[in-house]
Amino acid sequence: MSPCGTPLTLPANLIDTTVNLAGGDTAATDVWPYVKCEVETHTEGEHAAHLVFVPGVSGRAVWAVWKESYIAAQIKEPCMAAVGSGGTEEVCVLFAEHPGRHTWEMSPNHQTGKEAWEGKECASARSRVAEVPAPVDET
Ligand SMILES: [Zn+2]
Ligand SMILES: [Zn+2]
Repeated sequence: MSPCGTPLTLPANLIDTTVNLAGGDTAATDVWPYVKCEVETHTEGEHAAHLVFVPGVSGRAVWAVWKESYIAAQIKEPCMAAVGSGGTEEVCVLFAEHPGRHTWEMSPNHQTGKEAWEGKECASARSRVAEVPAPVDET
């Protein structure tokens, strides 16, 4: 399955609301006005797209949430569901309690394939180091 991808052009007042919600040094120029729905393809419910992180609050972000009839900006906690470990882990970039799958479930071949390949590179680099003879102790 893939992300929904429904596009949205943010109205100016939503960008203003986003800047106010995020606070800190957030400026209107930090908010990219063209977004796409990031949750798994759905036939019901709201579309949602990440707009900007809340400065200084780990992972919290302002999201655009919309349907045919309305549009809103909301602060949401991060999902943070993770898979893998030891430097190859992937963390879901959606918001807490989002509908559908986690982002790493939606693109398993894309991300995991690349990470697996990098992991293999690391392993062979380590084995090359291990093959270098230890320095001879001359004393
Ligand atoms: Zn959607
Ligand atoms: Zn998730």
